[in-house]
Amino acid sequence: MSGIALLKCRSCGHHWQFRRAACPVCAAIEPEAVAVAGGGTVWSVTTVHRAPLPEWDVPGGYAIALVTLDEGVRVMCRAESGLAIGEPVRVTLRDGLPHAART
Ligand SMILES: [Zn+2]
Repeated sequence: MSGIALLKCRSCGHHWQFRRAACPVCAAIEPEAVAVAGGGTVWSVTTVHRAPLPEWDVPGGYAIALVTLDEGVRVMCRAESGLAIGEPVRVTLRDGLPHAART
């Protein structure tokens, strides 16, 4: 497991997930890449019963969640089953993909 990397504006401190040259808030350029702890809260969660890839097909399906990280960035994650909206979680990378689990 490893941590989540975000981009951070050097001017206003806003964080975002996907690569872009300028801050979406203040338009400052040259953001810095930062590693964050991955703490966050479940914003939405569901179970996928029809996996898009055969290797993801598991009996009973698998959970995905939208998690609002402490930095304000919302990320989609594979998730531990049984999570509830509003529950605190920790997001880490598993096989290169974000994964949310209870803290
Ligand atoms: Zn900014």
